[in-house]
Amino acid sequence: MDEFFSLFIPRFRFPFAAFSDYHKSANLIYPFCSIFKFLISNFQLGRLAKISLEEVFSLIIGNNCNGMEPIEFYVSLRKTNYQPSGDENRQVREMLIFISQISILKWHNGYLLLDLTKKDYDDYNGFLHLTTPFISEPHSTRENEYLAVTSLKGGELPHFKLQSREAPTDDIFIEGKRSRVNHIKIERSPLLRKLFFEKNPHTICDMCVCDTKVRYPWTENLLEVHHILPLSSTLVVTREGTSLHDVVGLCPNCHKSVHAYYKNWLNRYKIDDFRSRTEAKEIYQQAKSSILL
Ligand SMILES: [Zn+2]
Ligand SMILES: [Zn+2]
Repeated sequence: MDEFFSLFIPRFRFPFAAFSDYHKSANLIYPFCSIFKFLISNFQLGRLAKISLEEVFSLIIGNNCNGMEPIEFYVSLRKTNYQPSGDENRQVREMLIFISQISILKWHNGYLLLDLTKKDYDDYNGFLHLTTPFISEPHSTRENEYLAVTSLKGGELPHFKLQSREAPTDDIFIEGKRSRVNHIKIERSPLLRKLFFEKNPHTICDMCVCDTKVRYPWTENLLEVHHILPLSSTLVVTREGTSLHDVVGLCPNCHKSVHAYYKNWLNRYKIDDFRSRTEAKEIYQQAKSSILL
């Protein structure tokens, strides 16, 4: 998913050759590069990196941003009175929800949020790629233009890897399996953790029911978030926002042990991932009922 979006974001532009109203001489606009530049420029300044649907109209569209401006340009954008017309509101809203499926963005409470820590930002150097439009000479026909923009020929697939979201001990579970890397990336999302514990403000492990705050009174909250769905599944984004269902809080021991349980189970059946949501939930319950309290 991340690799798909890192290809898609710099290449998606208006007018896009997939649509019949494409004109080769029109001025190009890269909406996602523009939004990324806005978020990253705010992040770099230590501000909360988020943008609402209204702000996309008022700040991005109202100021005629095209995604090709220097990143500093986005810091000083002023509000405009731009109002969406016709179907624009729905279209832009859906674009924001669509793009929020990349692991470093989340859609929550009407905002698109950049889900990054300072360490993620320092360790991963792909952000420049996400903010830089893929610019090519326009082709005369719509078909050729479409093929040129979407072709991967001669290009390089982006490697999307937030190293800081993996700990050395994860190796035991990951073993190079993509689905497991993705799973850990979700569980280490700083924003998901924040949202989950805002909604579930307790410190009791879902597996061993130990209240970590009672046992270790000098700690704030030791619980980690565990995503119960199949390892390859991304977060579900609903109308309201990023779904916090199918997420539980586990103490570090139980969390490690449940992943070991998964690994054994998957190896036994010689599969890389659970075959359905139901199966994933079942195996979680199985692990939970197998612990000796
Ligand atoms: Zn526990
Ligand atoms: Zn987990």
